[in-house]
Amino acid sequence: MLGQMQSQPLLISNLIVHADRHHHSTEIVSRRVEGDIHRTTWGQVAARARRVANALDSLHLSFGDRVGTLAWNGYRHLELYFGVSGSGRVLHTLNPRLHPEQLVWIVNHADDRALCFDMSFLPLVQAVHAKCPGVKHWIALCDADKLPADTGIPGLLSYEAWIGGATDTYTWPEFDENCASSMCYTSGTTGNPKGAVYSHRSTLLHAYGAALPDALGCSARDAILPVVPMFHVNAWGLPYSAAAVGCKLVFPGPALDGKSVYELIEGEQVTMAAGVPTVWQMLLGHMQQNGVKFSTLKRTVIGGSACPPAMIAAFNDQYGVEVLHAWGMTEMSPLGTVCTLKNAQVALPADEKMKVRLKQGRSVFGVDMKIVNELGEEQPWDGKAYGDLLVRGPWIIASYFKGEGGDPLQYDAAGRGWFPTGDVATIDADGFMQITDRSKDVIKSGGEWISSIDVENIAMAHPAVAMAACIGMKHPKWDERPIVVVVKKPGTEVTRDELLAFYEGKIAKWQVPDDVVFVDAIPLGATGKMQKMTLRQQLAGYKLPGL
Ligand code: ADP
Repeated sequence: MLGQMQSQPLLISNLIVHADRHHHSTEIVSRRVEGDIHRTTWGQVAARARRVANALDSLHLSFGDRVGTLAWNGYRHLELYFGVSGSGRVLHTLNPRLHPEQLVWIVNHADDRALCFDMSFLPLVQAVHAKCPGVKHWIALCDADKLPADTGIPGLLSYEAWIGGATDTYTWPEFDENCASSMCYTSGTTGNPKGAVYSHRSTLLHAYGAALPDALGCSARDAILPVVPMFHVNAWGLPYSAAAVGCKLVFPGPALDGKSVYELIEGEQVTMAAGVPTVWQMLLGHMQQNGVKFSTLKRTVIGGSACPPAMIAAFNDQYGVEVLHAWGMTEMSPLGTVCTLKNAQVALPADEKMKVRLKQGRSVFGVDMKIVNELGEEQPWDGKAYGDLLVRGPWIIASYFKGEGGDPLQYDAAGRGWFPTGDVATIDADGFMQITDRSKDVIKSGGEWISSIDVENIAMAHPAVAMAACIGMKHPKWDERPIVVVVKKPGTEVTRDELLAFYEGKIAKWQVPDDVVFVDAIPLGATGKMQKMTLRQQLAGYKLPGL
């Protein structure tokens, strides 16, 4: 017997139709590349998304054709999110921080047919366009009068002129919810990047899941600031969850420095913000230097890499802002876990609660997870046993674009496919997962594992440390020994011996790094994560003390 409910495909166009009908006048605020603050509404975004759909028709782009974007977080990018996917094309968000050659590779691999870019990326587009023969239409996200006379890019259109010439009357097509809606390439620290292709169905299920109270907890009463870029895993899906709940959205554009982000949070009465730890480091630095506080911010989602305890403490104790530590991956749309406490943890003393907050958290309904040893045997959820973290669920990748890399899944006895995350983790009895390391970053010393995250977190708690990266160095006896590479905060001092002494009593003696290397900067990747491979290359001539 079948259920007798209406069978309606889960499509991204449903989201913008809903936001238009039910949250028409709710504001969308953007700091633009031009530098000014722009205000619009969900109603306007919906109308302009319909223009985008008509304008794509006028370029004769087919169903399933890829439309690339090279853009910061802003209202035009939001219109493309809905106009491109809603009309059945596939939105391909490109990371402008990638090396131009890598960008060219990705555009060609994805077969992008059109590419929309912010004017700040004009020089980049001028440098790469000739190497992307498949891109037939180049569209600059600006007014017609802002387009320079001779850019050298044949047929370059201005977005405003392009959509201005189209009507906002459009009927969103209905199609199979499993059709591709958007795609994003992994940053590919080894080998070529691989494409994760999201579907309408996976995106909508993720939008519901992410908005749940124990996940990101999005509500129509919120003003949400996604600092996490719209070019990285769809800004953690926030634009979609925002449309589902009808909250105000605030976009930072290219200005991600502490002062600009702080001004936007205060000026727009932001209640929730989301981003990677490096961005919050800049924000906290600005606030501490200027002695300012938040008046509306209630919570901040921090993920993408481990959130140092000092950061959780600063937000919580100094500013009264709840930190939601979250974990996910490009291959997971990206949300996997969020660290929201259960009643049992809320009742814990402050230091115990802090230990829980440091964990990456509980799985959002829709994501199942388990930890396994090298034989694939499931490990207990006791908070101590660790293993490779595997996940499955309807918004988790089944295969990469064009089948690259073969079948990525591992199969259990029942034949169910699990995606190996490449992370090593523990899970406690209450289901809180904690990443101990990425499997490639873990340090193996004398047959035991040392968590680079633990070593970094301790260094980061020292008042003179701005950033710390722990890496393993080859050792003839122990296989590997950890060292910690440190960037000092401006105007502060700490010596090697003082920092090593700081580890005493905080971790086992054999886990204390063998050395401290002070550097001016730690290389960061295109998504703001520390690039340990590059760091290792930079330290090629380094020798451990005593060797
Ligand atoms: P990449 O940077 O490799 O393209 P993603 O942006 O998809 O990949 O990042 C996924 C990886 O980032 C995870 O597998 C994990 O190693 C790391 N990560 C994400 N969130 C956290 C977190 N809260 N704590 C620790 N590591 C995290």
